Amino acid sequence: MSGAAHARPAMAARAREVAIQAKGFLKEAEGDKLFELALEASRLGPCLEIGSYCGKSGIFLGDACRIAGQNPLFSIDHHRGSAEQQPGQEYFDPNLYDCVENRMTTLADFWRNIGRAGLDSWIIPVAADSSIVSRYWRDTSLGLVFIDGGHGEFDVLSDYGCWANRVLSGGYLCFHDVYPDPARGGQAPYQMIQYARALPEWEYYGLFESLGVLRRR
Ligand code: MG
Repeated sequence: MSGAAHARPAMAARAREVAIQAKGFLKEAEGDKLFELALEASRLGPCLEIGSYCGKSGIFLGDACRIAGQNPLFSIDHHRGSAEQQPGQEYFDPNLYDCVENRMTTLADFWRNIGRAGLDSWIIPVAADSSIVSRYWRDTSLGLVFIDGGHGEFDVLSDYGCWANRVLSGGYLCFHDVYPDPARGGQAPYQMIQYARALPEWEYYGLFESLGVLRRR
């Protein structure tokens, strides 16, 4: 049997192009890793991300869900920007600021990008605070959870506490912006993953650029 028989299905060219052009902070290699993980994990159960922003990571995950053909991606974001994206902060983007309502809004960009990527049926936007959604989320266990919402200690701990225990055995728990070197970025995601990987239920899977991945035993 030739090696090609085992080749991984590729992302749709159009979806990939939209993902790469979408605003966001995810590197291409990190997106490709999310795609690869979701291709496998979405067969176990739905995928869920916290921190949709403009849809970049969602398209990598969502296109994998579409190809696997079993379960969708739920993408949670209040779409008002995290603390570091507010006016005057490091990651503020004036083009995502609603000058009439005087607040950040990423929902229109997100919605447009997932439509352009052809993923309306595979990405389910949830426009709300992740902890509130979690309170009403009952029995559905998840194949993959990607935590990339607020990057402060409180938000990261809250998202871990609300969602990590929903990951199925064999499924993945991923964090974005994991920086072992404090000079390169905030430490909350790194500290969270250090804590979790010491627990018996998680196996350390790897760090890909700044994408930290654990696998549930
Ligand atoms: Mg991020």
